[in-house]
Amino acid sequence: MSQNLNKYLHQDMDKTAGIDHTSHRTKIVATVGPACDTYEKLLDLVRAGVNVFRLNFSHGSHEDKQKIIDHIRHINSTEPYNIAILGDLQGPKLRVGEIENNHLDLFVGDILTFTNEKCVGTKEKIYVSYPNLAGDVKIGNTIMIDDGKIEVKVVNITKEKDVKVEVTLGGVLSSKKGINLPDTKISLPAITDKDLVDLEFIIEQKLDWVALSFVRSVKDIVILRNKLDEKKSKTKIIAKIEKPEALVNIRDIIVESDAIMIARGDLGVELPIEQVPLIQRELIRKCIHRAKPVIVATQMMESMIDRTKPNRSEITDVANAVLEGADAVMLSGETAAGNHPALVVETMRKIIRQVEQTEYRYNREDDLKPLAHSPSFLSDAVCYNACKISKDLNANALIGMTQSGYTAFMLSSYRPQSPVFIFTKERSLVNQLSLSWGVRAFFYAEEESLDNIVVDQINILKQRGFLNTGDVVVNTGSTPVHQHLPTNIIKVTKVD
Ligand code: ATP
Ligand code: MG
Ligand code: MG
Repeated sequence: MSQNLNKYLHQDMDKTAGIDHTSHRTKIVATVGPACDTYEKLLDLVRAGVNVFRLNFSHGSHEDKQKIIDHIRHINSTEPYNIAILGDLQGPKLRVGEIENNHLDLFVGDILTFTNEKCVGTKEKIYVSYPNLAGDVKIGNTIMIDDGKIEVKVVNITKEKDVKVEVTLGGVLSSKKGINLPDTKISLPAITDKDLVDLEFIIEQKLDWVALSFVRSVKDIVILRNKLDEKKSKTKIIAKIEKPEALVNIRDIIVESDAIMIARGDLGVELPIEQVPLIQRELIRKCIHRAKPVIVATQMMESMIDRTKPNRSEITDVANAVLEGADAVMLSGETAAGNHPALVVETMRKIIRQVEQTEYRYNREDDLKPLAHSPSFLSDAVCYNACKISKDLNANALIGMTQSGYTAFMLSSYRPQSPVFIFTKERSLVNQLSLSWGVRAFFYAEEESLDNIVVDQINILKQRGFLNTGDVVVNTGSTPVHQHLPTNIIKVTKVD
C-alpha cells in the first residue's frame, strides 16, 4: 500500500453517495438552457443521472454560460460527481432572429419575407443570419426551419435582396430557430468569426469537450485541433455529423476526432430523413471499432418538453441507441427549454437501466478483435484479453490506468459487463471520461510500484463501496511504472 493512499481516501471521503448515480452505463448528455440553469436545478439534473452538460453557443451569452460553468464546477467540488462540460460551437448555421413575443403561428399559404437586415420577426419581415441568402437561393428552392418542423418555398427574390417565401408546412416559429437550405450550397467557413470568439471562451474556461457543428471534412477538425494545440488546451474534440459530405469522409473524421455526435436534427434535414436510422447504426459501429465515444442526439424525448410521459416511439428510440452500443444519449430542448427537465432525465435513465439489465448487449469483444496492423496492437490485445478474463471470472471490477485516455476508451469500447474503473494522474481526464460508456474515473498520481498501485486502487474502490471482501478484480497497467508505456500487463486479485 502506498504511503500516500490516505490522501486519495480523504479526497473521496464524502463521495460514496455517488454510487447509484453512476449505475447507468450508457451516459446522459443534457443541454443547459433557461429551464435548468440555476444551481439547484442543475444539481437536480445531476442527481437524476446527467453525466455531461452541453452548453449550446447558439443560444445565450457568455455571462450566462459563465454562471452555469461555475455552478457545475461547484457541484463537482462539493458533491460526489465528475460532470463533464461540453461547449457546442454553432458553426455555419443559418438562423432566424428574434421573433416578436417568441411566437409566430405560420399556416400553409402564408407569404413571408426573409431579410438580412436585423429586425424583430413578424408576419411582415423575418431576419435571417446570412447576408448572402438572396444571392444563393433560387425560386422554387425549399427552406427548412427548426429541424424541418416548418417548410417554406422561395417564390420571389426582390430588388432589395429580400427573399419572399410561401409556407408549405405550417407550425409555430420561435426565436433563433435554425434554417437549412438542402437545395443550396452555402458559402460559409467551418469555423465562423462567432465560433472563434466562443472557442476562446471555451479554451479559457478549460471546458472538457468542444463540439464542432456541420463538419464537412477532416480539414475542419485539423483546423480546430491546431487552434487548441496553439493554446496548449486539453479540451477534446467532438465532430458533429450532420452533413452528407461528412459521411463520405467519415473514416478520417472519426480517426482525427476524439468523439462523434450523431446530430440527427440537421442530418434529417440535409438527407432524406428515412436514411437516418441506418446511418446512426453504422456510425455507432464504426466509432466502437475505433474506440471513439459516440453520442446519439436530437428529439430523443421531444414530447416530454410539454408532457410528463414520453411517446412509446421515444422509449424505443432511447432503448435502441443503448442496444446499438452508443456511449451516450443526449437531451436538447427537453432539458434546455422544457417543462420537466429532471423528470425527463430520470425517465431516460430508467429506460437505459432496463435495457442494460439484459445481457445480450454486452460482450462486444466477440466481433471486435484487435487488429494486427494497428500501431497499438499489443496494448489493444492486452485490453481485449483483460475484458475476456473479466467476463470469464465474472469480475466485480475491471481497472485501467491512462494518461492519454486511450486505455479507458479502449476498455470501454469492448462494452465489458464488469464495471470499469479508470485511474489517471491527468486531472482533465477525470471529467472528460464521463462521456465514455461505463467508465468511472478517479484521480490517482502515485508511481511507487505496480504492487502498491494495485493495492491502492482496490482500497479506494473498497472505501467508495464499489468492492467488498471476496470480490474478484482484473487490473491492467504497465511496467516499468515510470516509463509510462502503453498497457502491457493484466493482474487478477481476490479482495481480502
Ligand atoms: P443545434 O442545431 O446546435 O442543436 P438548436 O437550436 O436545435 O441548435 P438545441 O441545443 O438542440 O438547439 O436546443 C433546442 C432548443 O432549446 C433551442 O432551439 C432553443 O429554443 C432552446 N434552447 C437551448 N439552449 C438555450 C439557451 N441557452 N437559451 C435559450 N434557449 C435555449
Ligand atoms: Mg445542429
Ligand atoms: Mg438541436
